[in-house]
Amino acid sequence: MHSINQLVELPLFAEKNVTVVLKREDLLHPFISGNKFRKLKYNILAAQAEGKNTLLTFGGAFSNHIAATAYAAREKGFNAIGIIRGQELEHNWRQNATLHKAHEDGMQFKFISREEYRQKEDSKFIDLLRREFGDFYLVPEGGTNSLAIQGCEEILTKEDELFNCVCTSVGTGGTVSGLINASFAKQQIIGFSALKGAFLKSEIEKLVQKDNWQINNDFHFGGYAKITEELVRFINEFKAKTQIPLDPVYTGKMMFGLCQMIQHDTFVPGSKILAIHTGGLQGITGMNRILKKKNLPLLHI
Ligand SMILES: *Cc1c(COP(=O)(O)O)cnc(C)c1O
Repeated sequence: MHSINQLVELPLFAEKNVTVVLKREDLLHPFISGNKFRKLKYNILAAQAEGKNTLLTFGGAFSNHIAATAYAAREKGFNAIGIIRGQELEHNWRQNATLHKAHEDGMQFKFISREEYRQKEDSKFIDLLRREFGDFYLVPEGGTNSLAIQGCEEILTKEDELFNCVCTSVGTGGTVSGLINASFAKQQIIGFSALKGAFLKSEIEKLVQKDNWQINNDFHFGGYAKITEELVRFINEFKAKTQIPLDPVYTGKMMFGLCQMIQHDTFVPGSKILAIHTGGLQGITGMNRILKKKNLPLLHI
């Protein structure tokens, strides 16, 4: 399955003589957005091959991965269990758009404290979950494992060879690792970190064999899911000019960073840049609730 490449036309790109194309992975599926579709594909095939009937995974309350797993599980006939970070949500999760939809798709939740959540990779903790829920196929937080990376290698196709540079947003690093593995000779991969902290580079080094990549840590806007008025305005302006919606957690920050780099002449004239629209648009509703509470401008839907 391939997604379309869409030329993005902004005065800045013309002025600097660079070509920017967005790969619209956000349009792959109406509910299993972008890279989460890629990351689940081979995991679901593995769960079927192993004869499992339940998927269990981990995520935060606004997680695109939780939303995608819930829908994919329903579509493929699995039960789904979401272990959600934050016990305080136990009684008011219905007000959270992401969890509300995941529940409608049949996902069952278990809310755990942030301390407990840190044990998400601990085999003793997983054993306790098996005692509570019975047998399941475990999809890790954010969906990243070797099968997810294999799925993300399918984002790039032969036609993408003409690009000098491929950009993506980075959370756990699974997507950028797939892109690095699938990259063509002489291509540079730039990952824009959506998280604060420089630990990602060493994580990704464990997942890839090539060295044609870099992680940019300058555009996380204060950390994961943190947002500023400047970012809201950028996303709204980008949509007004191009008709392309970006999400505030990942793709908005990537595109902001890419535009800044182009503004500062990081790319030689004539460069052809492919940016991956990894999806995440389901999170806009939840973010607008937060923006409203903070009296900040809202994201245009
Ligand atoms: C999860 C997600 C990412 C990050 O992907 P990783 O493989 O965890 O690095 C990027 N963009 C969107 C829209 C996402 O939902």
